[in-house]
Amino acid sequence: VQSRRTRATAGPEIERLIELLARLPGYGPRSARRAALHLLKKRDAVMRPLAGALTEAADRVRTCSICGNLDVIDPCGVCTDPARDDHSLCVVAEVGDLWALERSAAFTGHYHVLGGVLSALDGVRPEDLRLGGLLERIKREGITEVVLALAATVEGQTTAHYVADLLADALPDSGVQVTRLSHGVPVGGELDHLDDGTLQAALKSRR
Ligand SMILES: [Zn+2]
Repeated sequence: VQSRRTRATAGPEIERLIELLARLPGYGPRSARRAALHLLKKRDAVMRPLAGALTEAADRVRTCSICGNLDVIDPCGVCTDPARDDHSLCVVAEVGDLWALERSAAFTGHYHVLGGVLSALDGVRPEDLRLGGLLERIKREGITEVVLALAATVEGQTTAHYVADLLADALPDSGVQVTRLSHGVPVGGELDHLDDGTLQAALKSRR
């Protein structure tokens, strides 16, 4: 007697597709099945172009060795853009935060992606973040303003305190101004979920 689950099986190839889709953030088995069916139905319009884009991204996208952004060139397009303000550096947790700030067009300086936030719960320690590179950059690039654009979560604010203390200890009397996004950033809100206007306001009223 076959189990219900076995009878529902669509064949190993489709099951594999569903299983992989279910690993995406925000996806569970149910949404993965729906996505798999949609892809198979829209094979030429969606599935093949998506497969091509996935392969190309997997082969070509790399992490910028200076700022931690993702791009097909290293250093990335932001780091090599001559029109940007060379003296202002915005510290963010993840590449998604950098993208959110870029979409809002409120910040014209350079970025530094930490690669996460400090978290006792998830076991993220200072040595797990790109902090050494941050200090080196501030010294090497003659940065005069560091904007800490970290989320208003407990972890985000713990990280902001840590980075501010680190800069104060490592660069005493350097004159580097350390500012933070204002409380326009909602508690628990991640930068990527904010609309552009809120982000612009939070950046404008940084202190
Ligand atoms: Zn870069």
